[in-house]
Amino acid sequence: MPALARWDAFLTQIRSRHEQVRADALANGRAFIASVAAGGDYQPLSHQLSAVKHRLQDLEAKIMDTWHAQVDDAILAEGNSVERRDAACAQGVALGHQLEDARDDLETALMAELARARYQAAQAALVPVVCASCGAAYQPPHSFRLIEMACTCGAPVRYDPDELMRSAGAIGTHAISQEAAAAELAAMRAADRAARGARSPTPLHLLQAWEAAQIAYWRRYLAARAWFEPELGRDPALEVKKRMEQWYQYTADQEEAWRAAGRPRAI
Ligand SMILES: [Zn+2]
Repeated sequence: MPALARWDAFLTQIRSRHEQVRADALANGRAFIASVAAGGDYQPLSHQLSAVKHRLQDLEAKIMDTWHAQVDDAILAEGNSVERRDAACAQGVALGHQLEDARDDLETALMAELARARYQAAQAALVPVVCASCGAAYQPPHSFRLIEMACTCGAPVRYDPDELMRSAGAIGTHAISQEAAAAELAAMRAADRAARGARSPTPLHLLQAWEAAQIAYWRRYLAARAWFEPELGRDPALEVKKRMEQWYQYTADQEEAWRAAGRPRAI
C-alpha cells in the first residue's frame, strides 16, 4: 500500500478507536451517574474520566509520532510533492485538534449530566423554608449557597441548601456553563489555533479575531455561570475584562503587530 493510503487508513483507525473509547466512557459514565444522582461519592467518575483522558491522549499522540517515524519520509520517497506531503501532515494535525476537543467535551458533558441529575434530585427533595419566629412557610429560593431572607413578620429566615443541592452547584458551575458556551468555545479554539499557527509575527487581524472570540466565549460562559454565582451578573463587562487581562498582558502585548497598532483592546 502506498504511504499516502496507509496514512489515510491509519488516521481513520485512530479516529474510530478514539470514538470507541469515548462511547464506552459515556455509557459507563451514564450508568455511574444514575447510581449517584441522589447522593454518594462521585469521585469514581473523576477517576474514570482521568483514566479515559490518558487513553485518549495516547491515541492523539500516536498521530504525529507515527507521522514523524514512518510517514513523512516515506511519502516523499515515493515521489510525492512537498505540497502533497504538507497536506497529508495538515490532515493529521487537524484530526489531532478535533480529537483533543472531543476529549474535553466528553468530560464537560458527563460532569454536566451528573450536575443536572443531582439538581433534579435536590429539587424534588426541597422542603419549605419555615420562619422560626412566626411559622410562615416559604418556597426555597434558587440558590446553591446559604441565603438569608426577611420574613413578612420581620424576622430573618435562612435557606441553607442541603448537601445534594450544594454538590449540584459545585459539580455544575463550570461544566454547565462550559456546555452553554459550546459554540463560542469551538470558535475560540479555532481562532486560537489560527493565530498560533500563523507564521511569526502574528498578523493583527488574527490577534483581533482571537481576542473577539475569547470575549464572546467569556460573555456567554459567565452569563451561564451567573446562575450559580450571582455576583458574576452584577457587572458582566468588568468580569469579562478581568478574564481577558492575562491574555492582553502575556500574549497580546508580546506581539509586535499588536504593540504597533497601539494595543487596541476591544474591552
Ligand atoms: Zn416570620
